[in-house]
Amino acid sequence: FNSKLPNVGTTIFTIMSALANEHKAINLSQGFPNYPSSQKLNDLVTKAMNTGYNQYAPMAGNLDLRLAIAHKYELLYKSSYHPEKEITVTAGATQAIYTIISAFVKPNDEVIIFKPAYDCYQPAIELNGGKTIPVQLSAPNYSVNWDEVASKISPKTKMIIINSPHNPSGTIWSKDDMLQLQKITENTNIIVLSDEVYEHIVFDDAQHQSACLFSDLKQRSFITASFGKTFHNTGWKIGYCCAPEALMSEFRKVHQFNVFSVHHPSQKGIADYMQDAETYLGLNTFFQRKRDLFLNLISESRFKFQPSQGTYFQVLDYSEITDEYDVDFAKRLTKEFKIASIPLSVFNEKDKDDKVLRFCFAKTDETLLKAAEVLKHI
Ligand code: PMP
Ligand code: GLN
Repeated sequence: FNSKLPNVGTTIFTIMSALANEHKAINLSQGFPNYPSSQKLNDLVTKAMNTGYNQYAPMAGNLDLRLAIAHKYELLYKSSYHPEKEITVTAGATQAIYTIISAFVKPNDEVIIFKPAYDCYQPAIELNGGKTIPVQLSAPNYSVNWDEVASKISPKTKMIIINSPHNPSGTIWSKDDMLQLQKITENTNIIVLSDEVYEHIVFDDAQHQSACLFSDLKQRSFITASFGKTFHNTGWKIGYCCAPEALMSEFRKVHQFNVFSVHHPSQKGIADYMQDAETYLGLNTFFQRKRDLFLNLISESRFKFQPSQGTYFQVLDYSEITDEYDVDFAKRLTKEFKIASIPLSVFNEKDKDDKVLRFCFAKTDETLLKAAEVLKHI
């Protein structure tokens, strides 16, 4: 047969986690916590299972959860999304992203993405016959040249995918970035897919610039989020997306046939848990403490860094240590030094290698201490 994705192999997350397991390395590669998710939340999901939430959820998601999500947008951004018409619960952000792309991108449509890019965007574009138009950003600031972006917009541009806080670089976009995006998409039919899975993990008192804060942008945007990232349970695969009604009804045409609905008891448990907004508002402080701990511990090392501005990832520049290709160095670190990380070149255009590795600090303090002890001596 003719592969539909001839250039796609296994994701780097699977590769590095498997290598970490094989070599019994500390796994700071794939982004997931190594501490338990909240007992209260687990109990609420169990309660949902014991009180009848075991059959199909409504296609768009459990209504209590959609109400809780709508409330969050009011509370944080004074932005309203209609819980019945403009919010859909998905199997993680991954399914939301795939379904959004699938619902809108036709053969030969162009989709602009910023590289390094989270790895599920491009295959989804290509599976739907679209063409990826990359805008490459560079270490250490990953700042956007908006003239370059504007120059890549064409009549074929169907969508622009953005991601702030940004995985893998740990940078965030400013209000000015969002205004620039709003300006260059004004009076076009371009759809924006704003991947905001790390919206609650922003540091040093910065504000997350959600696409819903900008009125023209909001009208053309899907925002997608992940409870796995917010509530420390990536294995549950519950996320959602929101968008104005006309966009969302198009999304649901596909959603109803590619998953219909997702795990019901988790949705009900999360809805009840979210009644207390502290459950998500406290994340910034929680992760900033971990970031600071990790960075203090490695401050004397030969790795160079700018503190992560958001996400639970820290990128480290290893150019003072070796000039090895980043994939090779990440593998050697795992095998010889027992620390697994993610090389950034795999997310770049033409495997551009800035000698940067990504480390996940959503780990117990004990794990961070152990990892730093090793990194200090490399
Ligand atoms: N987008 C980004 C930027 C991510 O880092 C991830 C991984 N959490 C996802 C999307 C997918 O999220 P989920 O695990 O909820 O599918
Ligand atoms: N989002 C996670 C990360 O960036 C990985 C998710 C996955 O393994 N697909 O590490």
